[in-house]
Amino acid sequence: MRALFFDGLVLHLIDNYQQPQPEENEALIRVLMAGICGTDMEIMKGYKGFKGVPGHEFVGVVEKVSGGYSNLVGKRVVAEINLGCGVCELCARGQEKHCPERTALGISDKDGVFAEYVTLPLRNLWEVPSGVTDEQAVFTEPLAAAFEIVEQVHVKPTDRVLVLGDGKLGLLAALVLAIGGANVVLAGKHEEKLAIARQQRIVTKKVEKLSKKRAYEIVVEATGSASGIEVALDVVRPQGTIVLKSTVAEEKSIGLTRAVVDEVTLVGSRCGPFPPAIAALASGRVDVGPFLSAVYPFSEALKAFEKASEKEAVKVLLDFRKGR
Ligand SMILES: [Zn+2]
Ligand SMILES: [Zn+2]
Repeated sequence: MRALFFDGLVLHLIDNYQQPQPEENEALIRVLMAGICGTDMEIMKGYKGFKGVPGHEFVGVVEKVSGGYSNLVGKRVVAEINLGCGVCELCARGQEKHCPERTALGISDKDGVFAEYVTLPLRNLWEVPSGVTDEQAVFTEPLAAAFEIVEQVHVKPTDRVLVLGDGKLGLLAALVLAIGGANVVLAGKHEEKLAIARQQRIVTKKVEKLSKKRAYEIVVEATGSASGIEVALDVVRPQGTIVLKSTVAEEKSIGLTRAVVDEVTLVGSRCGPFPPAIAALASGRVDVGPFLSAVYPFSEALKAFEKASEKEAVKVLLDFRKGR
């Protein structure tokens, strides 16, 4: 099969990569579309020391199932990206994303979706309703990560919430928080991306114009950079909450004394629940259409990666449906 392979240094488009075979209770999925994410760009810089097929945001069709649930064959699915061992205490509690033995699709020890086929455990799959397009469905995983914020933090309608970072996750987080009725401000560096948020009635600010008056009960740090937390500490209210969303290859030392003195709650936040994300896409409560920067056929995947590295790009998709 055709696949993008990262050898630890460079990305290659390969024609004869070995097609994976589903193990017991796994599905073989033909990828329809996949999204390039900030985490993929971090992997290219050495995040997690990953080698193999990257990619974790996708929609596909189940071609074959090994074990039960053959009714999934032919269905369009999206998938949670953490693969737990299935037997430890954390997995038993449904916290596979914290399983110490876990692998993660296209991120750690498991080939991802920048390939024509991928295998995944059946328990990771969610069927996509017919009203959700392939393009929309690719956003399920990052949208679920945005919904994780409201799973973790009680956002009151009177709260002033600042989302730092106008990348895809920041934009999605702002939309999800706005649904809940909070006063949301999105701060970023890129005028074109802030304009996308304003189209969706989100108040925006250039990050350099943020006043250091510490006005925000909740700050979501989604800048994708190691220094975002320092900005967050500048603007969060005493006894406020900072939700940390950036996973970056670069490690940076940060002075946290201010967090102690101001009794700031720091909440690490990663992958989130798929059902509210799928429901928000199906109902149209979250419109991801404006976030789509470009779609490339898979044969032009390397070009797509160049595009995704441009500052204005929000989301670049790879399309496997054409040219098969
Ligand atoms: Zn992602
Ligand atoms: Zn486990």
